[in-house]
Amino acid sequence: MERWPTPDSLAQASPAEVLIAWDRLGYPRRALRLQECAKAVVAKYHGELPRTREELLTLPGVGEYTADAVLAFAFHLHSVVLDTNIRRVLARWNGQALPAVHQTKAERSHAAKFVPKVPDRAWLWNASIMEFGALICTARDPKCEQCPVQQSCTWFQTGKPKDSFAHMRKTQKFIGTQREARGKIMAQLRLHQSLTELELLELSTLSKERFTAAVDSLCQDGLIRKNNDRYSL
Ligand code: SF4
Repeated sequence: MERWPTPDSLAQASPAEVLIAWDRLGYPRRALRLQECAKAVVAKYHGELPRTREELLTLPGVGEYTADAVLAFAFHLHSVVLDTNIRRVLARWNGQALPAVHQTKAERSHAAKFVPKVPDRAWLWNASIMEFGALICTARDPKCEQCPVQQSCTWFQTGKPKDSFAHMRKTQKFIGTQREARGKIMAQLRLHQSLTELELLELSTLSKERFTAAVDSLCQDGLIRKNNDRYSL
């Protein structure tokens, strides 16, 4: 935010600068989408974020969650920001240990009924329930004894039944995945900017097979490039 405070300034940066600044904030593809989004905002909306869900959803990298969060927190408009904490709190009030694996329209419209219609209050509701889910109604160890809505919480009042969607949940491993391999390669290129294939292979500490698969996918995604046996962002 300090370095590129406006869409216009971010749009003018090089993708390599953006990837280096992004560091390990999350999937590096998001950094490129963010910059594509800045360019689209400059080209289509004179450098100002649009204020409707429909328009926000046309921007690169902006899905339903991001559009809803922008409407609530940037513009203080009526919006349901169904993040993992809010979904869990509402599921508990409804009698479930955890929400279903995938969101449904029914879940969305159910959640919308709780969001205040009073102007300027929806964002506060979203922020409060998010915080409540992060601090009190947590996934593993909810602090029900401190909870102000214990009396109206169906899950608590029915004896905390087991998660009925447990069989559908997958635990994501990281070690040994291509995501891990891609992360190692990106980390070295952020550090050294440009490396030969041999240097990058050695510094990444990956097997040749994993290395090749990871650099190929990073090149395909436009996150790194190869020029005369040298890799760079
Ligand atoms: S009683 Fe427990 S499970 Fe129910 S909303 Fe409160 S903290 Fe969450």
